[in-house]
Amino acid sequence: MNDLRTVKKRFILSKGFYVYKGLNKKTKELVYIGTTVQIPKDRFRWHKSNGKDLFFSVINICDSSDEMLDIEFELIKKYKPKLNKITERKQNLNIALTKSEIDNRIGNKEWCQKCLKRRVKSPYIFCYNCK
Ligand SMILES: [Zn+2]
Repeated sequence: MNDLRTVKKRFILSKGFYVYKGLNKKTKELVYIGTTVQIPKDRFRWHKSNGKDLFFSVINICDSSDEMLDIEFELIKKYKPKLNKITERKQNLNIALTKSEIDNRIGNKEWCQKCLKRRVKSPYIFCYNCK
């Protein structure tokens, strides 16, 4: 299946907009579709430490978060991987924040000081979207 083909590792060097798949290690069945703006191997390690020990690989490198989330949603609708919890709608990075969340993040160096929606690492002040 072309839309699930693994991207060669040499094209995955940095943070970006990635769609990835997770296969059951024994059966090779597709059980998860995910997205990340991190370096994918960091995300895969995080999954593993949270109990999701699958055979992960990147299947799409996108130009924007919108494209990434669209592709993720199309693949989830098409394949219905059993470990995906949100299947009826696109994931949304722009979910409205409550006032207390916003107040907490203002001036907090862990959060992008423009959108207050994404975490940043020092010495950055703005996230990848706002930079
Ligand atoms: Zn931002």
